[in-house]
Formats: sequence, C-alpha cells, structure tokens
Amino acid sequence: MSLKAQLIRQIEVDGPMSLADYMQACLLHPEFGYYATRDPFGQSGDFITAPEISQMFGELLGLCLAQAWMDQGGGACALVELGPGRGTLMADMLRATKAVPGFAPEIHLVEASPALRDIQRATLKGVDVIWHDSVAELPETPLFLVANEFFDALPIRQFLRQGRGWAERRVGRDGDALTFGLSEPVPMEALAHRLQDTGDGDVVELCPAAPQIVAEVSDRIQRHGGAGIIVDYGDWASKGDTFQAVKDHAPCDPLDSPGQADLTAHVDFKAICDASGCATSKMTTQAALLYALGIGPRAQALAEKLDDAGDQSALDQHLAAYRRLTEPSEMGSLFKAIALYPKGATPPPGFDP
Ligand code: SAH
Repeated sequence: MSLKAQLIRQIEVDGPMSLADYMQACLLHPEFGYYATRDPFGQSGDFITAPEISQMFGELLGLCLAQAWMDQGGGACALVELGPGRGTLMADMLRATKAVPGFAPEIHLVEASPALRDIQRATLKGVDVIWHDSVAELPETPLFLVANEFFDALPIRQFLRQGRGWAERRVGRDGDALTFGLSEPVPMEALAHRLQDTGDGDVVELCPAAPQIVAEVSDRIQRHGGAGIIVDYGDWASKGDTFQAVKDHAPCDPLDSPGQADLTAHVDFKAICDASGCATSKMTTQAALLYALGIGPRAQALAEKLDDAGDQSALDQHLAAYRRLTEPSEMGSLFKAIALYPKGATPPPGFDP
C-alpha cells in the first residue's frame, strides 16, 4: 500500500491529522519516507544545500568551531552534526581543522535516516563516527556542534488566528485525495504571546520538536562548554505560511505525492533562542557570517589556484558557488545563523553577543 493510501486510511479511522504528523510520516516513514529512502541532495536530487555548493562553507564553519574550542581552553570534546545529509559538511570541517594543534574531537552525528547514514559512512570513510537517533544520546562532554538545514526539516503545526482563538490547519481526505482543512478555533496557551504581534487571519507556525532539541543541546553546552552554530532559512518570530514542498528543484503541491517531495518550513530563530539554556548570539545572515569568517580571501585563494591550473570551468563553477552562498538574491540573506555558547564566554568568531 502506498504512503498516500496508508495516510487516507489513517484519516478515515482517526480523523484529520496535524501538519506535524503529516510531515513526520512523509519525511521519515521507515518504508516510504522522503529521507528514509533516498539521497535528495545535489544537481540530480531535489535540492542543493550550502555544503554541497562549495567546500568553503564547511571549511569556514569548522575553523569557527575550532577557534571557539581554543578560546575555551581546548581539551577533550565532541564535534557534532545534526542532520548531516551526505556527510559533506563534516568531511570539509575535518579537513580544514586537521592542522589545528590538539584538536582531536570525537565525531557524533544525529541522523534519523538509515539511507543517509550509509552515505555518511562512505563520505567519512576512515573516520570513527558515532551515530545517534536523537540529541538525548549525545555525550556529556563539551559539544562543538553544527546544524545546517536541519531545523527546517522538523515537523511544524500551523495555526490561523480567528479572533482570540486559533484554528489548526490539518490534513484530511476527500475521496482519494488529501486536502487541507481547519479545526474549530480555540484559545491556545502556547500561542498566547503571539496575540500581540498578529491579527485576525494571520498564520503562525510552531515546531514542537525544536525547543526540546535546543534545550537538550544548550544544556550540555552550558554545563560542559562548547558552541553550536545553527544555519537555516527563516527569520525572527516568523509569521505566515512557510510550509513548502520541493521536488526536482521546483515547488510542488505538498499533498500530491507524500514521501516523494521534500517538505520544509522556515525556522523561527526566536523560538530557538527562547528555548536555549545557554547564551545565544544575535541572529545574523549567512552572508554576514561567511564574510566575517573570511570567505572573501578563501574564495580568492581557491580562485587563484584554479586559475593557475588553467581550469576555466572549475573556476567559473567556484565563482558561481561563492555568489550563491553570499549574494542577497541567492542564499545570502534568506539564510540566517545563530550561535549557542556558554553564558559568560565569548561567542564563536563571526557572531555578536
Ligand atoms: N545538513 C545537511 C542536510 C540537510 S537535510 C546539508 O546541509 O546538506 C536534513 C537532514 O536532517 C537529513 O540528513 C535528514 O535525514 C535529517 N533529519 C531530518 N529529520 C531528522 C530528525 N528528526 N532527527 C535526525 N535527523 C533528521
């Protein structure tokens, strides 16, 4: 039975489901889930992420975390990635930090998809990696952590404001088709704070898993030391419907083919800060962060190398990748970054307290 048929049967029995339950099934269903069954990244996949665009992204974030480690006095630690995709970002971080004296972290990856774990194992061949299903399993040690396009993949619930109540957007069925519907509006404690900055008809989104994940990670950073860098598309206290489906690099109907398209929502960085038990930096843009970490000179050095080698096509590709990561019209300002670090410590390079 297809995932769509399974979902329709479930709705028949239990009634309409929240967007979060729908996303969870579409992305991580063990047999049909989007991440559980495929490698969605790159030109031939459905979308392309910053580490797949250029090695510079992982190199700079790796050096940023290694500098934070030095600033905190060095010592034993874990280098952690949440949702590592193909493992490219971790591989680039490890290559760039190989020369940092004494930096020999344990490598911990939090990954839900068995198919992607296999790809990460191949990318990180020769590296001792410890995989986890959830952040709760991370070690009690200083954590230097990165999460790129991880939080946008976590299931969200959506609410439409009606008066002082909220109607939840749900997935129901109409014959053989999945359809969107709305529950009766009710007042909601969890959204009480949004009554001030929204009006009738506004949509807000809640990501129930994000605060728990942030709390777990930030608590370790506060108690043992470390730093976390979160990069994703989104904004501060985001408003509006940002739920989207992408297939073959193009938007598509999120209800059309469950399990076949990537489903995401913008990340609410305020919700991340509110859930943190350690210090959080100011939110910055991906472009500002990469420039502060030295992407300009790094891009130039790589360009000169390719130019010297006479490899025009690689040079063109490299310059296009540089623009894609940093230009405001591309990923530069849509993507934001924030850092977690212990209270009283300095934030990692590139971030303001
Ligand atoms: N960071 C990578 C991949 C981003 S895609 C990159 O930048 O290329 C999202 C990643 O998070 C995938 O590896 C996906 O399998 C993983 N993922 C999604 N939901 C998860 C969850 N609940 N727990 C652990 N990993 C999850």
